[in-house]
Amino acid sequence: MGGVARGARRVGGGRGGVGARRVSLLVVGSLAYDTVETPSGRAEEVLGGAATYFAYAASFFGPVRLVGVVGDDFRPQDRALLADRGIDLRGLTVAPGRTFRWRGRYEGDLNVARTLDTQLNVLERYRPAVPAPFRDSRFVFLANSPPAIQESVIEQVAPGALVAMDTMNLWIDGARAELARLLPRVGAILLNDQEARMLSGEPTLVRAGRAILRLGPKVVVVKKGEHGAFLFSEDFFYALPAYPLEEVTDPTGAGDTFAGGVMGYLAQAGRADAAHWKRAMLYGSVVASFTVEEFSLGRLRRISREDVDARYRELLSFTAHP
Ligand code: AMP
Repeated sequence: MGGVARGARRVGGGRGGVGARRVSLLVVGSLAYDTVETPSGRAEEVLGGAATYFAYAASFFGPVRLVGVVGDDFRPQDRALLADRGIDLRGLTVAPGRTFRWRGRYEGDLNVARTLDTQLNVLERYRPAVPAPFRDSRFVFLANSPPAIQESVIEQVAPGALVAMDTMNLWIDGARAELARLLPRVGAILLNDQEARMLSGEPTLVRAGRAILRLGPKVVVVKKGEHGAFLFSEDFFYALPAYPLEEVTDPTGAGDTFAGGVMGYLAQAGRADAAHWKRAMLYGSVVASFTVEEFSLGRLRRISREDVDARYRELLSFTAHP
């Protein structure tokens, strides 16, 4: 048996069995005010950030613990929006200064964001501190951050958690040694097709996925925007189309909400074997498909778990045949 099954036993198993352990999901990453331009329009200073999107998406499945930083300009209604979803904000630091700002534009190819401006603001000096009550989290997501910061989070959580991570071109280019040190320490990495090619140096996604597995993670998920996603592991391969949408308003947050759906589902199930990973991929695709229908969290705010489940069944019916 290979790595996924071993990982599943570590996460879900133990003497008490799967149901006996209280499962919990932690995310560490950015909260932001985003200004986004797409062919559909423009949104200014809207709530965004990798951890924000992840936590909101995962909250459809169960409680989420969030660790991150905002400035003293963070709007009370944005805090309330997260708290009302059952997102535990005891790990949210409010630092003097401005919240992280990101400005991006999507042109013809909606799968690729062009970063126009990044203002780190309070994120610049921030080093995540996982509060003591969060350290027993069994599922951990390291949202996009410098790999050394992501690694510092692993040091703060109890061993045996399923740790999944995201990354981006900035770190693949500029912090490769740190990334190489981190990869063997995570159970899973979720990244997009461009990033997978960049990280592996391989031209085809299948070779890229296999090459990234050799860098350490037990599971590699490669997201292909409107073309779906691949999952690579030692034990199995899985391919899934995206939920077909006629119109995409704003792709921002698709990757993070995909991850939120995946990890939210796994944490709710309390296990991460092949069958659960496959269902988690479906949930990730479905949640991301809602995200891109409006700017910011606009669409996610108006749906329920029932809507997620309905679209899950629809996506299944599109892919399965008698
Ligand atoms: P994605 O799911 O990949 O579309 O991520 C979009 C989110 O990532 C946006 O809401 C941004 O605020 C956030 N973001 C962009 N650049 C960075 C960065 N360098 N570090 C942390 N978060 C970022």
